[in-house]
This record gives sequence, C-alpha cells and structure tokens, in this order.
Amino acid sequence: MSTISQPQSVEINRLIANLGADLDSGLSLAEADDRLAQYGPNSLVSTPPVPVWRRFLAQFHDPLIYLLLGAIAISLGAWWFQGHQGWPIDAMVILFIVVANACIGFFQESRAIDAVAALRRMTRSQVTVRRGGQARLIAADDLVPGDILLLQEGDNVGADARLVEANALTIAEAALTGESTAVTKHPGRIEGEVPLGDRHNMVFRGTAVTQGTGVAVVTATGMDTEVGAVATMLSDTEQEETPLAKEIASVSRWLGVIVIVIAVLVMVTISLTSNIATMSDAVTVLFLGVSLAVAAVPEGLPAILSIVLSIGVQRMAARNAIVKDLHSVETLGSASVICSDKTGTLTTNEMTIQQVKTEGGTAHIAGVGYEPIGEVTCSTGQDINEVYDVLAGGALASNAELHREADDSWEIVGDPTEAAFFVAERKLADPIDRETRYERRGEVPFSSERKRMTTLSRDRETGEFVVVMKGAPDVVAKYCAQVDEAQVRADVAELSDQALRTIGIASRRLHPEHISEDLEDLERELIYEGTVGMIDPPRQEVREAIAQAQRAGIRVVMITGDHPATALRIAQDLGLVTAGGTALSGIELDKLTDAEFAEAVQDVNVFARVAPQHKLRIVDALQDAGHVVAMTGDGVNDAPALKSADIGVAMGITGTEVTKDAGAMILRDDNFATIIAAVRQGRDIFDNIKKFLRYLLSSNMGEVCTVFFGVIFAGALGLRGASTEDIVLPLLATQILWINLITDTGPALALGLDPETDDTMGRPPRATHERVINLGMWGIIFWVGAVMAISALLTMDFFLVGGFIPGSDNLEVARTAAFTTLVFSQLFNVFSSRSTTHSAFKDIASNQWLLGAVILGVVLQFMVVEVPFLQSAFGTASLDFEHWVVTIGFASLVLWAEESRKLIARIRNRV
Ligand code: ATP
Repeated sequence: MSTISQPQSVEINRLIANLGADLDSGLSLAEADDRLAQYGPNSLVSTPPVPVWRRFLAQFHDPLIYLLLGAIAISLGAWWFQGHQGWPIDAMVILFIVVANACIGFFQESRAIDAVAALRRMTRSQVTVRRGGQARLIAADDLVPGDILLLQEGDNVGADARLVEANALTIAEAALTGESTAVTKHPGRIEGEVPLGDRHNMVFRGTAVTQGTGVAVVTATGMDTEVGAVATMLSDTEQEETPLAKEIASVSRWLGVIVIVIAVLVMVTISLTSNIATMSDAVTVLFLGVSLAVAAVPEGLPAILSIVLSIGVQRMAARNAIVKDLHSVETLGSASVICSDKTGTLTTNEMTIQQVKTEGGTAHIAGVGYEPIGEVTCSTGQDINEVYDVLAGGALASNAELHREADDSWEIVGDPTEAAFFVAERKLADPIDRETRYERRGEVPFSSERKRMTTLSRDRETGEFVVVMKGAPDVVAKYCAQVDEAQVRADVAELSDQALRTIGIASRRLHPEHISEDLEDLERELIYEGTVGMIDPPRQEVREAIAQAQRAGIRVVMITGDHPATALRIAQDLGLVTAGGTALSGIELDKLTDAEFAEAVQDVNVFARVAPQHKLRIVDALQDAGHVVAMTGDGVNDAPALKSADIGVAMGITGTEVTKDAGAMILRDDNFATIIAAVRQGRDIFDNIKKFLRYLLSSNMGEVCTVFFGVIFAGALGLRGASTEDIVLPLLATQILWINLITDTGPALALGLDPETDDTMGRPPRATHERVINLGMWGIIFWVGAVMAISALLTMDFFLVGGFIPGSDNLEVARTAAFTTLVFSQLFNVFSSRSTTHSAFKDIASNQWLLGAVILGVVLQFMVVEVPFLQSAFGTASLDFEHWVVTIGFASLVLWAEESRKLIARIRNRV
C-alpha cells in the first residue's frame, strides 16, 4: 500500500483496493494494529517534550540560586586557599539543601505534568469505525489509513477520508477552509486537483459533522492530513496562564523584589555594625543574605498552585466531572447561574408510558421500568384497538430496541423516549405482528428543532404505505387534517399537570403512487391518533443538589425542549420554582425585545419548548447582567452556547463529540448533581489555594522579620553582647534554608489537599473581579508574620545572658532555641491557616497529610537539634527539657494570637 495522492480523483474501487480497505467489515484488528505501528498515532506532532535532565536543570534556573551557587563557589575557594582544613561544612550543607530543593521542585513539576497528561487522555476525541466486522468506538489517535469511518451528526472527523456514502451529510469546515457555512458532501469522483473547499467527496480531519450520516475510507492520518500540513507551520500554542496563576506570579515577583531589598539591607547593616575582617566573614554575610532571599522569595508558588489545581481536577474526574483545563476550576467556584437541560440531567431519562389518551378516553398502563409487564386498563367506552394503534404507531416510528438479557432482565438500546413505546406495546400484544407486517422505507429523524420524527413504511399485507409522525403533540397536531386541537390541548394539559412527558402520534395511509421522493412532503393531512403521557422520574439526588445550589447563592435555570406545563411541574417537584412560578416558551422568547428579554431572564427559572439557539441568547443575557454562567448541552447545535458560557458543560453519555469539544467540562454521568459537586470542589480548591497562600506568605514574612529585626535590635536583645564572633547573626544561613525546606514543601502541599473546613457551600459565589490575596489576607499575613518573629526573638532574648529578659545560655543554644521556635511556630500556623474564622482545633485531625507533614517536620527539627553530625552541619546545640518546653510555648503564641483574632471575628459577625 502506498500513500494516495489526490484521493478525490481516484476511482473509488481502485482507491479502496489501494488502501487495502474492506467496506463491509473494515480492517481486521490485527491489521489495524500493524498499520498503527507502521504509520504511528493519528496525532499532530507537537514540539518534542523537554527531556528529563533539562527539566531538572531548569530547577536551578533562578538568579537567586545562581547567586547562592556563586557564594558556594567563593566559599569553597576561600576554604581551599586557607589550607583546606576539615570539611567546608557550610558550603556542603547549602549545596545539599539547594539540590534537595531542586529535587522536590522537580518532583512537584513532574506530578503536575503527569496530571495534565492524564486529563488530556480522558478528553481524547473518539470516532466510530468499522473494524473486525463491527462498529467500534475508538480513540481518534488510533485511526489508520484504510479504516472505514462511520460519521453521524455531532461527530468530529478524525482523519482525512474519501466518502463512500453520504445521507444529507453536511460538514462544518471553517476550521480548515474558513468557510463559515456548512458544506454539503456527496460521494462521486472529482476530476483532477481542486481546492480543498471544493472537494465535496472528501472529509477532513479537524472538521465536524453538522447533519446527516456518512461512510468514508480513511486516506491520510496524522501529519499527512491537510490540517497536518498546516500544523507543521505552527508550533504548539502555549497554554494561557489562568488569572489566578497570573496574579500569583505577579505577587511572587514583587514580593521577591521586596525580599531582596530587605536581604541587601540586612547584609549592609551587618557589614556596618560588625567588623568584617576575613574573606570567610564576608562569605558568611553573603550566605546569610542570599539564603534569606532564596528562602523568602515564594518561587515555589506556581508549582504548588498547579499541583493543587491538577490534583483537584483529578479528584473531580474521579467523581465524574472531567474539567478540561485548570482555568475552569477557578471559574466553577464563582458560577452564579447554572442552566441545565431537563431530560436525563435533572431526570433519569428512564421513560415509562403511563397513560394513552385517544378519542374514546384514557387508558392507564401499570408497571415500571423497561420490563414489559403491566396491566392496561381502558376507560369505559374506549376501544382498546385505538390504544394499540397509538402504541404500535409510536413503535413503528422509532429506532430504539428492546432486548431480553440472559439474566431475564430487559435492556434498551437507543433513545428511551422511543423504547418506551416498545415496552408499552408489548404489554398489550406481541410486536411480531407489526414487525412482520411493516417494512421501513424512509425516515426524517427527530431533532430538537423539528420536535417530531416521521417514518414511511410499507404494509406488506395491503401494499399500501403508511406515514407515521410522532413528536410534541402541539407540533404534530399542526400537520393533521383530522384533529380536535382543543381536545389535544386539554389532554396535554392534564398529562403535563401530572408531570408526564407528552408525545402525540399521527398517521396517514397512502397508495404507492402518492409517495414522493421528499419525505417532508408527506408530513401533511395526517390523522391524529392519540397522546401518550410518559413518566420520566426526577433523579433522586437532584432535589438536594438544587437546594444546595440555592444555599450557595447559585440560581438554577431549567432549559428544555419539553412542554412548559410538564417542565414547570417537574421544576416544582425539584424545588427549582415555587408553586406560583412561570415558564417562558421559545415562541414567547422570540417575541421579546432585547430589553424585555434581559428583564425576563432575571427571574424566570424555567424555559420550555425552546430550541438550541435560544440557549445562546439566554447565556448572553445572563452574562450581560454580570452572571458567571454554566450551561449544559448535548447536541451539535448546543455547541455555540457551550462555548459562549463561562463553563460549558457537555454530557458524557448523550453528548456528541462536537459538544464535548466545545465544553469546558464533561459530565461522565450526565447528572446535574455532579455539576453541583464540581462547583463545590471548585470552591474547595480555591479555598485551599488561599490557605496555602496565607500559610506560605506569613511563614516567609516571619523568617524575613526575624532576621531583619534580629539584626536591627541585636544590641537590645543581648545578641551582640553574647557574640564571640565578629559578626552578629540571629539565624545562620543553613538554618534559614532548612526552615524553608521543612515548611514550604510538605505542609504547604498538604494544605492544598485539605478537606472542606469552612462551609464552602454556605456563602455566595466569589466575585470574579475580587483579588485572591485581598487586603484582609495581607492583614493576616503581616499579623501572623509579626507574631512569629516576636516569638522567635523573644525566645532568643529569654535564653541569652543579656537583653530584656536575662537568661544564662550561650549564643549557640539561644539561637538553636529561636530557630526551633520559628520552625514550630510555622508548624502551629499550618493549623491556624486552615480557616480564617474557625478555630484551628475544629476537625484538627481531618487532614492526614497535614498531620503527617507536621509530625515529619517535628521529627526532622528534633534531629537537626540533637543529632551530633547535624549539629555541626546546622550550627545547632542540644536543648534540654526546659528549653524545649519554653520553645514550644513561645512557638504556640502564633496559634493563640490567631485563635483570639478568629474569636473576635466570629463574635463580630454574629452581632
Ligand atoms: P431537554 O430537557 O434535554 O431539552 P427534551 O427531550 O424534553 O429534553 P427535546 O429533545 O427537544 O427536549 O424534545 C422536545 C419534545 O419532542 C419532547 O417534549 C417530546 O414531546 C418530543 N420528543 C422527544 N424525543 C422524541 C423522539 N425521539 N421522537 C419523537 N418525539 C420526541
């Protein structure tokens, strides 16, 4: 087999032979595998992934780390020239910490990359092909030349392919050719080379089926496709940063500048107040300054942010909500209106026909689910044959199937609305009579726009043809010559009032000579047979989900193609509207001016008998009113509304590929309750991000303040008097880096995974313009940082001989105690950071990761203080019991300070 050039002009049988394809059964599975190995995956090659070693080295790519590495080199040089006695401890420890930090950063980044890749796999586009004799749904990436593609409305075209069959097939090719209207496609050879837009017998990768069905044989995949040819000119577009990531990057940047200024100030102050005589003194001061900058600049924030977001996204996926990009997680948390379809999303989409209204009266049908058992009771005077005609008519105009499984249960394939007719029909009679008597000759499929479906069948007994229309009763009635419209309206009103979904059936018999080519031409002069009422029970969990949404200040709006009365009744049952609520219909919407529309959208919560295009208008009006809108959809025509919404929610089960592409989120179970669960998770993730921001920034503030004020007030604290060294250092460079290593990694990440601590669904949605780190948060950061520094410096003063509080320890011990206080106060602060209002003791043990990280921190700190070789590495000295108790006491100050602040805040809020 060779690559086919100009496949549009090759005679079709020759093309199929050249491609080694088989129209009837497709490629064998083994052949498909071989070809996949030969041609490679059907993907557009993007820029090659960055090699692991590069990613590791990139961890050092930071001017501050360069400075630190420079200082290490200078220190090693000084040590060498001064006779290289003993080990260059400081340089080794700092180097070790820098490498450890890089490893942690590398690990975190890899985790984030894996998570994003896993998400990509989940949202991979799928296509239907014929392989090994049957239709199969496969990942578009696995398509190979020679595959037989089966196309239907809403499919993405996965590769370039030549059409073999097309039924009213139209394709949107704007992405490839820029042509904005959909193009009609038909098989048939084209002579010679024509522009892409004119190759009506080809379908191309990257385009989508807007209508109809088709069969095509794949001629090119991956980079050999037309879009692949364009893609070679484009490099992979960088994913845009989310607003939160941007805000954090900017905060990190200017905090970095402030920290560096402070570090320089510290170095200058030390240089001025100390007697720097040797090279090694100079290096010590340099180490301190640079370490302070390295520790306090929150350069790890973006990595932690993306890990927390991507782990959050994985958690959502585990609960059936697949969020496609990290940005949507943020938007989800601020959603203020959720517009939802009804059928299948708010309801179970398990239809059971319960009533049949005919001219003679109302028949009641017993039984639940798809098991075709249940008594049919006609009202007095009603002819059971009329009831049968309605049910068998509905079955005749349906494409679903009803099967009995090996375990005797009944299963359906296809649209549940249609399957309901098969079930009800079977409760009356064996369907075999209908099946043997009628032969399907044509069909105009159901669509949400047409709201009806029509079939043409031949009666083998009489040779006549029969046209059957089933659809929304009000719509069907319009095509009838014999119908009592007032009666239909009354029947529909009565059924809708019982929350039943209504379908009307009409038919007409024709002689063969009256059959026209165009089926829509036959949709007239029908005889109305009757109306069925089917129950579609609300999903049990939805009522609670709606109540939860309302508590969280989120409006829920129902947008449905169903009858207004049915929609309203179900909306009432679900608590979506109160008893007096109203529904607006599509026809009414069309009559409104833009201003009236904008007003209506403010308080109407049920839109019924609408078509997909109304959704777009509703989304736009809500957005104009300042709402953040989530909108669900499944059909191709829902795609524009989904794209326009802040969060487009595509149905995973009933949704088409095009809709899934357009949505920002895919609901794997089509369930409304999953949207609310996702919103809640979105809010939780956002809260957690705030928690670790508060924690990290206040910890950094504590470190900077301790060193800065320690140097400024060295005399007053007794630090200078106690120092036997030439220079006065409140903390050593290695200690500062150590604090950073312990607190910035484990506890910060664990906070990012915190279970809900505040009532996230008890407050209104976050305003989108609100900054994440607002004034209130800055207040807490400064307050906590200041308390930490005061505790650390007080500890130092407490133990030192001089200062405010006279003590009896030497500088090494006092410094170790202050260092430990700082570490412990940060570990205490982890618990305080979990909520801005609730006590740290509330649900203190609910986050196992956090407990683990804190215990690990305590153990490591204990080792650094008590293990001899670590003592020499970190300049620490053993502490006795009293030291430990005092240290822990001072460290806990931050906890009590926060507890008091929260208590006052809670009392104030209650007043
Ligand atoms: P949603 O809430 O998802 O919009 P819906 O199913 O009620 O759901 P449509 O699918 O647009 O909305 O259906 C509109 C109307 O068309 C229904 O109320 C029903 O009367 C009729 N209908 C639905 N499905 C079929 C079908 N398969 N064949 C014929 N008529 C149908």
